[in-house]
Amino acid sequence: MSLKVWMDGELLPAEDAKIGVYDHGLLYGDGVFEGIRAYQGRVFKLDRHLRRLYASAQAISLVIPFTAEQLSRAIYETMEANGQSDAYVRLVVTRGPGDLGLDPGKTKTPVVFIITDRIALYPEQMYTEGMSIITAKTVRTPAQSLNPKVKSLNYLNNILARIEANKAGVSEALMLSCDGYVAECTGDNIFIVKEGKVLTPPVSAGILEGITRDVVIELAAKQGLALEESQLRQEDIYAADECFLTGTAAEIVPVTKIDDKVIGTGKPGPITKRLIDSFHKYVQPHT
Ligand code: PMP
Repeated sequence: MSLKVWMDGELLPAEDAKIGVYDHGLLYGDGVFEGIRAYQGRVFKLDRHLRRLYASAQAISLVIPFTAEQLSRAIYETMEANGQSDAYVRLVVTRGPGDLGLDPGKTKTPVVFIITDRIALYPEQMYTEGMSIITAKTVRTPAQSLNPKVKSLNYLNNILARIEANKAGVSEALMLSCDGYVAECTGDNIFIVKEGKVLTPPVSAGILEGITRDVVIELAAKQGLALEESQLRQEDIYAADECFLTGTAAEIVPVTKIDDKVIGTGKPGPITKRLIDSFHKYVQPHT
């Protein structure tokens, strides 16, 4: 049985949920989206995700033709139709069909769809042993060009860095800002631990304000860990005791090598492990 996809108010079999070739989401990457997880029947941080979705839409002058309440209901409806209590939810709003010019003024109605499925970005072993990453030569798009706070359908900047990672045989790439500071990875935020202190670049470094990042900041505070949002250089990552990435799909994944440098002991560190453990307890309270 195929999964059901919610599209503009209807639940359709996945193979019938289609986007037109004139849709500006496809022609120009003109649209916004969210990647969300549901654990144990509860959509995790749904309000935060919906707030970010509407903020992203507003930043590109896109009016979503549904209310947050309608979309929230639609997510639960789709999961129910698919018999899921744990899921990865992809909520997408495209600019909708227009003509072949890029003018969004020529489009009529945005298209909204929701896929609820599974996702496994990295092999399980990376969560226990750590992952290797590289520093990409591709620089993160500056906020003045397209603010990375906007979670848009235009991911080519990140994809170019991910191609570099693929060529190097690793699963993620660190992206620097044009002034040389650490920004984020292609689909994850980055944290390091140095002398017991947890450090992560501030949103002003030109990053997506990750919801998992916010949760980790909260969990660190609850555990009495010192945490600072501060500008980091590539050398700070090289010299870190521990490093980890955060994202909705990735959750928390330890990084033990960057470029040709081993981070810390080359194994996931104690603070990383503690945060992974408390993250699991937080998202799955009934285990
Ligand atoms: N940075 C980028 C570029 C992302 O695409 C994502 C989401 N995949 C993240 C960070 C992490 O954000 P979140 O924790 O909200 O999923």
